[in-house]
Amino acid sequence: MSLRTRLTLLYSTLVGGILLLFGVAVYQLISVTLTNQVDDILSSNANTLINSTKVNTEGELYILPSTTMDLPAYLYFQLWERGTVLTDSSLNISGFTEPLDPLGRVSGQPVYRDLDIGNAHLRVLSVPLYIGNRPVGAIQVASSLAVVDATQSNLLTVMIIGVIIAMVVAGIAVSITTYRFLRPIENVTETALQITRADDLSRRIPYSGPSEDEIGQLILAFNQTLERLEYLFHTQRRFVADVGHELRTPLTVIKGNVSLLRRIGSVEDESLDGIESEVDRLTRMVGDLLFLARAESGSMPMEKVPVELDSLLLEVWQQMQVLTHGKIELKLGEFDQVQVMGDRDRLKQVLFNLLGNAIKYTPEGGEVTVGLGKKDNEAFIEVCDTGSGIPAEDLPHIFERFYRTEKSRTRSKDGKGFGLGLSIAYWIVQNHGGRIDVESSENKGSKFTIWLPVDA
Ligand code: ADP
Repeated sequence: MSLRTRLTLLYSTLVGGILLLFGVAVYQLISVTLTNQVDDILSSNANTLINSTKVNTEGELYILPSTTMDLPAYLYFQLWERGTVLTDSSLNISGFTEPLDPLGRVSGQPVYRDLDIGNAHLRVLSVPLYIGNRPVGAIQVASSLAVVDATQSNLLTVMIIGVIIAMVVAGIAVSITTYRFLRPIENVTETALQITRADDLSRRIPYSGPSEDEIGQLILAFNQTLERLEYLFHTQRRFVADVGHELRTPLTVIKGNVSLLRRIGSVEDESLDGIESEVDRLTRMVGDLLFLARAESGSMPMEKVPVELDSLLLEVWQQMQVLTHGKIELKLGEFDQVQVMGDRDRLKQVLFNLLGNAIKYTPEGGEVTVGLGKKDNEAFIEVCDTGSGIPAEDLPHIFERFYRTEKSRTRSKDGKGFGLGLSIAYWIVQNHGGRIDVESSENKGSKFTIWLPVDA
Protein backbone atom coordinates (compact mmCIF):
# COMPACT_ATOMS: atom_id res chain seq x y z
CA MET A 1 0.00 0.00 0.00
CA SER A 2 1.46 3.38 -0.97
CA LEU A 3 2.34 6.01 1.62
CA ARG A 4 -0.32 8.28 0.13
CA THR A 5 -3.07 5.66 0.54
CA ARG A 6 -1.90 4.90 4.07
CA LEU A 7 -1.90 8.58 5.08
CA THR A 8 -5.32 9.12 3.49
CA LEU A 9 -6.77 6.11 5.32
CA LEU A 10 -5.11 7.11 8.58
CA TYR A 11 -6.40 10.69 8.57
CA SER A 12 -9.90 9.92 7.42
CA THR A 13 -10.16 7.18 10.06
CA LEU A 14 -8.80 9.59 12.67
CA VAL A 15 -11.28 12.33 11.72
CA GLY A 16 -14.11 9.77 11.58
CA GLY A 17 -13.08 8.33 14.97
CA ILE A 18 -12.88 11.73 16.69
CA LEU A 19 -16.23 12.83 15.26
CA LEU A 20 -17.77 9.51 16.27
CA LEU A 21 -16.54 9.88 19.87
CA PHE A 22 -17.76 13.46 19.95
CA GLY A 23 -21.09 12.39 18.45
CA VAL A 24 -21.56 9.60 20.99
CA ALA A 25 -20.91 12.08 23.82
CA VAL A 26 -23.40 14.60 22.39
CA TYR A 27 -25.95 11.83 21.82
CA GLN A 28 -25.61 10.62 25.42
CA LEU A 29 -25.80 14.14 26.81
CA ILE A 30 -28.92 15.03 24.84
CA SER A 31 -30.57 11.70 25.71
CA VAL A 32 -29.90 12.17 29.41
CA THR A 33 -31.06 15.81 29.34
CA LEU A 34 -34.28 14.96 27.52
CA THR A 35 -35.02 12.01 29.82
CA ASN A 36 -34.37 14.18 32.86
CA GLN A 37 -36.81 16.75 31.52
CA VAL A 38 -39.46 14.04 31.08
CA ASP A 39 -38.70 12.72 34.57
CA ASP A 40 -39.09 16.22 36.06
CA ILE A 41 -42.48 16.61 34.38
CA LEU A 42 -43.54 13.14 35.58
CA SER A 43 -42.34 13.82 39.12
CA SER A 44 -44.02 17.24 39.46
CA ASN A 45 -47.32 15.93 38.06
CA ALA A 46 -47.12 12.83 40.29
CA ASN A 47 -46.71 15.16 43.29
CA THR A 48 -49.72 17.22 42.23
CA LEU A 49 -51.80 14.04 41.86
CA ILE A 50 -50.63 12.62 45.20
CA ASN A 51 -51.51 15.90 46.92
CA SER A 52 -54.99 15.69 45.37
CA THR A 53 -55.54 12.06 46.34
CA LYS A 54 -58.24 11.70 48.98
CA VAL A 55 -60.10 8.91 50.79
CA ASN A 56 -63.92 8.93 50.43
CA THR A 57 -66.44 7.90 53.05
CA GLU A 58 -66.25 4.23 51.99
CA GLY A 59 -62.52 4.37 52.58
CA GLU A 60 -61.68 4.30 48.83
CA LEU A 61 -58.95 6.37 47.20
CA TYR A 62 -59.85 9.01 44.60
CA ILE A 63 -58.28 12.04 43.00
CA LEU A 64 -59.96 15.41 42.90
CA PRO A 65 -61.45 15.74 39.42
CA SER A 66 -60.33 19.41 39.16
CA THR A 67 -56.73 18.22 39.28
CA THR A 68 -57.12 15.50 36.68
CA MET A 69 -58.77 18.00 34.35
CA ASP A 70 -55.70 20.24 34.45
CA LEU A 71 -53.27 17.50 33.46
CA PRO A 72 -51.51 17.97 30.09
CA ALA A 73 -52.97 15.84 27.29
CA TYR A 74 -49.75 13.90 26.69
CA LEU A 75 -49.70 12.55 30.26
CA TYR A 76 -51.42 9.40 31.47
CA PHE A 77 -52.04 8.29 35.05
CA GLN A 78 -53.51 5.37 36.96
CA LEU A 79 -54.42 5.13 40.65
CA TRP A 80 -54.11 1.66 42.09
CA GLU A 81 -55.54 0.73 45.48
CA ARG A 82 -53.89 -2.03 47.53
CA GLY A 83 -51.77 -2.75 44.51
CA THR A 84 -54.48 -4.49 42.45
CA VAL A 85 -57.63 -2.37 42.18
CA LEU A 86 -57.68 0.38 39.55
CA THR A 87 -59.74 3.16 41.13
CA ASP A 88 -58.97 6.06 38.83
CA SER A 89 -57.16 6.80 35.56
CA SER A 90 -56.79 9.63 33.03
CA LEU A 91 -59.44 9.93 30.33
CA ASN A 92 -56.95 9.30 27.49
CA ILE A 93 -56.48 5.71 28.79
CA SER A 94 -59.87 5.12 30.34
CA GLY A 95 -60.36 1.82 28.44
CA PHE A 96 -56.95 0.49 29.47
CA THR A 97 -57.21 -1.59 32.67
CA GLU A 98 -53.77 -3.18 32.73
CA PRO A 99 -51.16 -1.48 34.92
CA LEU A 100 -48.84 0.90 33.00
CA ASP A 101 -45.90 -0.64 34.88
CA PRO A 102 -46.79 -4.00 36.52
CA LEU A 103 -43.58 -4.15 38.54
CA GLY A 104 -43.64 -0.49 39.61
CA ARG A 105 -47.19 -0.94 40.91
CA VAL A 106 -45.95 -3.13 43.79
CA SER A 107 -42.60 -1.41 44.34
CA GLY A 108 -42.05 0.09 47.77
CA GLN A 109 -40.19 3.10 46.29
CA PRO A 110 -40.72 5.61 43.48
CA VAL A 111 -39.39 4.04 40.28
CA TYR A 112 -38.94 5.27 36.69
CA ARG A 113 -39.08 2.76 33.84
CA ASP A 114 -39.08 2.84 30.02
CA LEU A 115 -41.76 0.54 28.61
CA ASP A 116 -43.34 -0.38 25.31
CA ILE A 117 -47.10 -0.67 25.54
CA GLY A 118 -48.65 -1.59 22.21
CA ASN A 119 -46.95 0.74 19.72
CA ALA A 120 -46.24 3.40 22.31
CA HIS A 121 -42.86 3.94 23.95
CA LEU A 122 -43.53 5.33 27.42
CA ARG A 123 -41.64 6.62 30.43
CA VAL A 124 -43.54 5.54 33.55
CA LEU A 125 -43.10 6.84 37.12
CA SER A 126 -44.64 4.64 39.84
CA VAL A 127 -44.97 6.18 43.35
CA PRO A 128 -46.26 4.11 46.31
CA LEU A 129 -48.96 5.74 48.49
CA TYR A 130 -48.92 5.54 52.29
CA ILE A 131 -51.30 6.57 55.03
CA GLY A 132 -49.06 6.87 58.02
CA ASN A 133 -46.74 3.90 57.56
CA ARG A 134 -49.41 1.76 55.93
CA PRO A 135 -49.14 1.21 52.13
CA VAL A 136 -52.51 1.85 50.55
CA GLY A 137 -51.77 1.84 46.83
CA ALA A 138 -49.72 3.39 44.09
CA ILE A 139 -49.99 6.11 41.53
CA GLN A 140 -48.46 5.72 38.05
CA VAL A 141 -47.80 8.67 35.76
CA ALA A 142 -46.56 8.13 32.17
CA SER A 143 -45.47 10.24 29.26
CA SER A 144 -44.86 9.29 25.66
CA LEU A 145 -41.18 9.24 24.64
CA ALA A 146 -41.99 9.82 20.96
CA VAL A 147 -40.38 13.29 20.94
CA VAL A 148 -37.25 12.00 22.69
CA ASP A 149 -37.05 9.04 20.30
CA ALA A 150 -37.50 11.27 17.24
CA THR A 151 -34.81 13.64 18.49
CA GLN A 152 -32.40 10.74 19.11
CA SER A 153 -33.06 9.20 15.71
CA ASN A 154 -32.58 12.56 13.91
CA LEU A 155 -29.41 13.17 15.85
CA LEU A 156 -28.11 9.72 14.91
CA THR A 157 -28.84 10.29 11.21
CA VAL A 158 -27.16 13.71 11.24
CA MET A 159 -24.18 12.23 13.08
CA ILE A 160 -23.71 9.31 10.66
CA ILE A 161 -24.01 11.56 7.59
CA GLY A 162 -21.70 14.10 9.23
CA VAL A 163 -19.06 11.47 10.01
CA ILE A 164 -19.19 10.07 6.46
CA ILE A 165 -18.93 13.54 4.87
CA ALA A 166 -16.10 14.51 7.23
CA MET A 167 -14.20 11.28 6.43
CA VAL A 168 -14.59 11.75 2.68
CA VAL A 169 -13.59 15.43 2.82
CA ALA A 170 -10.59 14.63 5.08
CA GLY A 171 -9.58 11.78 2.76
CA ILE A 172 -9.74 13.98 -0.35
CA ALA A 173 -7.88 16.82 1.37
CA VAL A 174 -5.12 14.51 2.64
CA SER A 175 -4.88 12.74 -0.70
CA ILE A 176 -4.46 16.03 -2.61
CA THR A 177 -2.00 17.43 -0.08
CA THR A 178 0.15 14.30 0.09
CA TYR A 179 0.10 14.07 -3.71
CA ARG A 180 1.56 17.59 -3.88
CA PHE A 181 4.14 16.88 -1.18
CA LEU A 182 5.11 13.41 -2.34
CA ARG A 183 5.37 14.24 -6.04
CA PRO A 184 9.02 15.37 -5.70
CA ILE A 185 9.82 12.15 -3.81
CA GLU A 186 8.31 10.15 -6.66
CA ASN A 187 10.64 12.12 -8.94
CA VAL A 188 13.57 11.03 -6.78
CA THR A 189 12.52 7.38 -7.09
CA GLU A 190 11.92 7.67 -10.85
CA THR A 191 15.30 9.29 -11.42
CA ALA A 192 17.05 6.74 -9.20
CA LEU A 193 15.43 3.94 -11.22
CA GLN A 194 16.35 5.59 -14.52
CA ILE A 195 19.93 5.89 -13.34
CA THR A 196 20.01 2.20 -12.46
CA ARG A 197 18.30 1.14 -15.70
CA ALA A 198 20.32 3.33 -18.03
CA ASP A 199 23.51 3.15 -15.96
CA ASP A 200 23.70 6.91 -16.34
CA LEU A 201 25.03 8.84 -13.38
CA SER A 202 24.88 12.16 -15.23
CA ARG A 203 21.15 12.54 -14.54
CA ARG A 204 19.91 14.91 -11.82
CA ILE A 205 16.54 15.27 -10.14
CA PRO A 206 14.65 18.35 -11.30
CA TYR A 207 13.02 20.36 -8.47
CA SER A 208 11.40 23.76 -8.72
CA GLY A 209 10.17 24.12 -5.11
CA PRO A 210 11.93 25.92 -2.25
CA SER A 211 15.37 24.46 -1.55
CA GLU A 212 15.23 25.08 2.21
CA ASP A 213 12.31 22.74 3.00
CA GLU A 214 12.79 19.04 3.81
CA ILE A 215 12.08 17.82 0.27
CA GLY A 216 14.37 20.48 -1.24
CA GLN A 217 17.13 19.41 1.17
CA LEU A 218 16.63 15.74 0.30
CA ILE A 219 16.84 16.40 -3.44
CA LEU A 220 19.87 18.64 -2.98
CA ALA A 221 21.63 15.92 -0.95
CA PHE A 222 20.70 13.26 -3.51
CA ASN A 223 21.95 15.36 -6.43
CA GLN A 224 25.20 16.11 -4.59
CA THR A 225 25.69 12.39 -3.92
CA LEU A 226 25.11 11.67 -7.60
CA GLU A 227 27.65 14.31 -8.58
CA ARG A 228 30.23 12.83 -6.26
CA LEU A 229 29.48 9.29 -7.47
CA GLU A 230 29.73 10.38 -11.09
CA TYR A 231 33.09 11.99 -10.41
CA LEU A 232 34.42 8.89 -8.59
CA PHE A 233 33.10 6.63 -11.29
CA HIS A 234 34.75 8.60 -14.07
CA THR A 235 38.00 8.74 -12.15
CA GLN A 236 37.92 4.98 -11.63
CA ARG A 237 37.20 4.31 -15.29
CA ARG A 238 39.94 6.65 -16.41
CA PHE A 239 42.33 5.02 -13.98
CA VAL A 240 41.64 1.53 -15.35
CA ALA A 241 41.96 2.75 -18.93
CA ASP A 242 45.19 4.63 -18.14
CA VAL A 243 46.76 1.70 -16.29
CA GLY A 244 45.85 -0.65 -19.14
CA HIS A 245 47.27 1.72 -21.65
CA GLU A 246 50.48 2.27 -19.71
CA LEU A 247 51.03 -1.47 -19.18
CA ARG A 248 50.82 -2.26 -22.87
CA THR A 249 54.16 -0.72 -23.86
CA PRO A 250 56.33 -2.38 -21.16
CA LEU A 251 54.69 -5.72 -21.94
CA THR A 252 55.51 -5.39 -25.63
CA VAL A 253 59.09 -4.47 -24.72
CA ILE A 254 59.45 -7.48 -22.37
CA LYS A 255 58.02 -9.79 -25.02
CA GLY A 256 60.50 -8.43 -27.61
CA ASN A 257 63.40 -8.89 -25.24
CA VAL A 258 62.35 -12.47 -24.43
CA SER A 259 62.42 -13.30 -28.17
CA LEU A 260 65.85 -11.68 -28.39
CA LEU A 261 67.18 -13.70 -25.42
CA ARG A 262 65.73 -16.86 -26.93
CA ARG A 263 67.56 -16.16 -30.22
CA ILE A 264 70.85 -15.46 -28.45
CA GLY A 265 70.33 -18.69 -26.50
CA SER A 266 71.95 -17.46 -23.28
CA VAL A 267 69.00 -18.30 -21.01
CA GLU A 268 67.27 -21.63 -20.44
CA ASP A 269 64.19 -22.18 -22.59
CA GLU A 270 62.12 -23.16 -19.55
CA SER A 271 62.63 -19.80 -17.87
CA LEU A 272 61.88 -18.00 -21.10
CA ASP A 273 58.70 -20.06 -21.58
CA GLY A 274 57.63 -19.07 -18.07
CA ILE A 275 58.26 -15.38 -18.69
CA GLU A 276 56.59 -15.54 -22.08
CA SER A 277 53.44 -17.23 -20.81
CA GLU A 278 53.10 -14.71 -17.97
CA VAL A 279 53.59 -11.85 -20.41
CA ASP A 280 50.93 -13.35 -22.69
CA ARG A 281 48.59 -13.68 -19.74
CA LEU A 282 49.17 -10.08 -18.67
CA THR A 283 48.73 -8.89 -22.25
CA ARG A 284 45.37 -10.67 -22.42
CA MET A 285 44.31 -9.19 -19.13
CA VAL A 286 45.27 -5.69 -20.22
CA GLY A 287 43.36 -6.28 -23.46
CA ASP A 288 40.26 -7.34 -21.52
CA LEU A 289 40.58 -4.42 -19.13
CA LEU A 290 40.88 -1.95 -21.95
CA PHE A 291 37.89 -3.56 -23.65
CA LEU A 292 35.76 -3.08 -20.53
CA ALA A 293 37.05 0.43 -19.91
CA ARG A 294 36.17 1.44 -23.47
CA ALA A 295 32.87 -0.38 -23.36
CA GLU A 296 31.80 1.34 -20.15
CA SER A 297 32.88 4.77 -21.29
CA GLY A 298 30.72 4.36 -24.40
CA SER A 299 33.59 4.45 -26.88
CA MET A 300 33.15 0.87 -28.12
CA PRO A 301 31.45 0.94 -31.50
CA MET A 302 29.14 -1.97 -32.35
CA GLU A 303 28.31 -2.77 -35.90
CA LYS A 304 24.89 -4.36 -36.00
CA VAL A 305 24.36 -6.56 -39.05
CA PRO A 306 22.26 -9.70 -39.59
CA VAL A 307 24.14 -12.61 -38.02
CA GLU A 308 23.26 -16.25 -38.60
CA LEU A 309 23.74 -17.68 -35.15
CA ASP A 310 23.78 -21.30 -36.35
CA SER A 311 26.80 -20.84 -38.61
CA LEU A 312 28.55 -18.68 -35.98
CA LEU A 313 28.00 -21.26 -33.27
CA LEU A 314 29.16 -24.09 -35.54
CA GLU A 315 32.32 -22.15 -36.34
CA VAL A 316 33.11 -21.55 -32.66
CA TRP A 317 32.24 -25.15 -31.81
CA GLN A 318 34.72 -26.42 -34.39
CA GLN A 319 37.46 -24.05 -33.24
CA MET A 320 36.96 -24.96 -29.60
CA GLN A 321 37.43 -28.70 -30.31
CA VAL A 322 41.19 -28.06 -30.16
CA LEU A 323 40.92 -26.79 -26.58
CA THR A 324 39.34 -30.00 -25.33
CA HIS A 325 42.59 -31.91 -26.10
CA GLY A 326 40.36 -34.93 -26.65
CA LYS A 327 39.71 -35.20 -22.89
CA ILE A 328 36.26 -33.68 -22.91
CA GLU A 329 33.43 -34.41 -25.29
CA LEU A 330 32.19 -31.26 -26.99
CA LYS A 331 28.71 -32.05 -28.36
CA LEU A 332 26.00 -30.32 -30.33
CA GLY A 333 22.50 -30.45 -28.87
CA GLU A 334 19.25 -29.06 -30.26
CA PHE A 335 20.15 -26.91 -33.26
CA ASP A 336 17.87 -24.43 -35.03
CA GLN A 337 18.42 -21.82 -37.68
CA VAL A 338 18.20 -18.37 -36.14
CA GLN A 339 19.21 -14.93 -37.27
CA VAL A 340 19.80 -11.92 -35.01
CA MET A 341 21.00 -8.37 -35.52
CA GLY A 342 24.39 -7.91 -33.95
CA ASP A 343 28.12 -7.50 -34.10
CA ARG A 344 29.43 -10.85 -35.32
CA ASP A 345 32.90 -10.53 -33.75
CA ARG A 346 31.56 -9.50 -30.37
CA LEU A 347 28.99 -12.32 -30.35
CA LYS A 348 31.77 -14.72 -31.27
CA GLN A 349 33.76 -13.39 -28.32
CA VAL A 350 30.81 -14.18 -26.02
CA LEU A 351 30.62 -17.74 -27.32
CA PHE A 352 34.38 -18.17 -26.93
CA ASN A 353 34.22 -16.96 -23.34
CA LEU A 354 31.29 -19.21 -22.36
CA LEU A 355 32.54 -22.30 -24.17
CA GLY A 356 36.08 -21.65 -22.93
CA ASN A 357 34.82 -21.54 -19.34
CA ALA A 358 32.74 -24.69 -19.80
CA ILE A 359 35.78 -26.57 -21.10
CA LYS A 360 38.07 -25.04 -18.47
CA TYR A 361 35.86 -25.98 -15.51
CA THR A 362 34.91 -29.49 -16.71
CA PRO A 363 37.21 -32.30 -15.63
CA GLU A 364 38.49 -35.05 -17.95
CA GLY A 365 35.76 -37.40 -19.17
CA GLY A 366 33.07 -34.72 -18.85
CA GLU A 367 30.78 -33.31 -21.51
CA VAL A 368 30.05 -29.87 -22.85
CA THR A 369 26.93 -29.45 -25.00
CA VAL A 370 25.94 -26.40 -27.00
CA GLY A 371 22.50 -25.83 -28.44
CA LEU A 372 20.61 -23.15 -30.30
CA GLY A 373 16.89 -22.53 -30.46
CA LYS A 374 14.11 -19.99 -30.69
CA LYS A 375 11.35 -19.20 -28.21
CA ASP A 376 8.71 -16.54 -28.88
CA ASN A 377 10.74 -13.65 -30.26
CA GLU A 378 14.02 -14.63 -28.70
CA ALA A 379 16.93 -16.75 -29.79
CA PHE A 380 18.69 -18.78 -27.12
CA ILE A 381 22.10 -20.37 -27.06
CA GLU A 382 22.71 -22.93 -24.32
CA VAL A 383 26.12 -23.96 -23.07
CA CYS A 384 25.84 -26.91 -20.67
CA ASP A 385 28.68 -28.64 -18.93
CA THR A 386 29.09 -31.46 -16.46
CA GLY A 387 31.85 -29.63 -14.63
CA SER A 388 32.54 -28.31 -11.16
CA GLY A 389 29.48 -26.06 -11.03
CA ILE A 390 29.26 -22.72 -9.23
CA PRO A 391 28.40 -22.46 -5.51
CA ALA A 392 25.03 -20.75 -4.92
CA GLU A 393 26.64 -17.91 -2.95
CA ASP A 394 28.91 -17.08 -5.92
CA LEU A 395 26.20 -17.17 -8.59
CA PRO A 396 24.97 -13.56 -8.14
CA HIS A 397 28.55 -12.25 -8.50
CA ILE A 398 30.09 -14.16 -11.39
CA PHE A 399 29.37 -11.39 -13.89
CA GLU A 400 31.24 -8.86 -11.77
CA ARG A 401 34.70 -7.77 -12.83
CA PHE A 402 37.58 -9.86 -11.40
CA TYR A 403 35.15 -12.11 -9.56
CA ARG A 404 36.28 -15.71 -9.37
CA THR A 405 34.99 -18.48 -7.18
CA GLU A 406 37.23 -19.69 -4.38
CA LYS A 407 37.78 -23.00 -6.15
CA SER A 408 38.89 -21.47 -9.43
CA ARG A 409 41.29 -19.13 -7.62
CA THR A 410 43.08 -21.99 -5.89
CA ARG A 411 43.19 -24.43 -8.78
CA SER A 412 46.48 -24.08 -10.63
CA LYS A 413 44.93 -25.29 -13.89
CA ASP A 414 42.80 -22.19 -13.98
CA GLY A 415 45.60 -19.78 -13.24
CA LYS A 416 44.89 -18.35 -16.67
CA GLY A 417 41.59 -16.66 -15.82
CA PHE A 418 41.14 -13.25 -14.26
CA GLY A 419 37.41 -13.12 -13.79
CA LEU A 420 36.85 -10.73 -16.70
CA GLY A 421 35.47 -13.10 -19.36
CA LEU A 422 31.91 -13.17 -18.05
CA SER A 423 31.84 -9.39 -17.44
CA ILE A 424 32.74 -8.87 -21.09
CA ALA A 425 30.17 -11.44 -22.26
CA TYR A 426 27.51 -9.83 -20.09
CA TRP A 427 28.22 -6.35 -21.42
CA ILE A 428 28.15 -7.50 -25.06
CA VAL A 429 24.89 -9.43 -24.68
CA GLN A 430 23.27 -6.58 -22.76
CA ASN A 431 24.23 -4.17 -25.55
CA HIS A 432 22.48 -6.46 -28.00
CA GLY A 433 19.27 -6.10 -25.99
CA GLY A 434 19.65 -9.59 -24.53
CA ARG A 435 20.53 -11.26 -21.23
CA ILE A 436 22.46 -14.23 -19.87
CA ASP A 437 20.84 -16.70 -17.46
CA VAL A 438 22.80 -19.17 -15.45
CA GLU A 439 21.81 -22.30 -13.58
CA SER A 440 24.38 -24.31 -11.73
CA SER A 441 24.74 -26.89 -9.02
CA GLU A 442 28.03 -27.69 -7.41
CA ASN A 443 29.85 -30.78 -8.73
CA LYS A 444 27.04 -31.45 -11.22
CA GLY A 445 27.56 -28.77 -13.82
CA SER A 446 26.37 -25.44 -15.14
CA LYS A 447 24.09 -24.16 -17.85
CA PHE A 448 24.57 -20.70 -19.34
CA THR A 449 21.78 -19.45 -21.61
CA ILE A 450 22.21 -16.42 -23.82
CA TRP A 451 18.94 -14.78 -24.90
CA LEU A 452 18.96 -12.40 -27.87
CA PRO A 453 16.10 -10.69 -29.70
CA VAL A 454 15.44 -12.38 -33.05
CA ASP A 455 15.89 -10.31 -36.22
CA ALA A 456 12.30 -10.14 -37.46
P1 ADP B 1 37.65 -16.60 -15.52
O1 ADP B 1 38.56 -15.97 -16.48
O2 ADP B 1 38.19 -16.71 -14.15
O3 ADP B 1 37.04 -17.87 -16.04
P2 ADP B 1 35.02 -15.49 -15.89
O4 ADP B 1 34.53 -14.09 -15.75
O5 ADP B 1 34.89 -16.11 -17.24
O6 ADP B 1 36.51 -15.51 -15.39
O7 ADP B 1 34.27 -16.39 -14.84
C1 ADP B 1 34.16 -15.96 -13.51
C2 ADP B 1 34.11 -17.13 -12.57
O8 ADP B 1 32.88 -17.84 -12.75
C3 ADP B 1 35.17 -18.14 -12.82
O9 ADP B 1 36.33 -17.81 -12.10
C4 ADP B 1 34.56 -19.42 -12.30
O10 ADP B 1 34.77 -19.53 -10.93
C5 ADP B 1 33.08 -19.25 -12.55
N1 ADP B 1 32.64 -19.96 -13.76
C6 ADP B 1 32.37 -19.42 -14.98
N2 ADP B 1 31.94 -20.35 -15.84
C7 ADP B 1 31.93 -21.54 -15.16
C8 ADP B 1 31.57 -22.87 -15.50
N3 ADP B 1 31.13 -23.20 -16.71
N4 ADP B 1 31.68 -23.82 -14.53
C9 ADP B 1 32.11 -23.49 -13.29
N5 ADP B 1 32.45 -22.24 -12.91
C10 ADP B 1 32.38 -21.27 -13.83
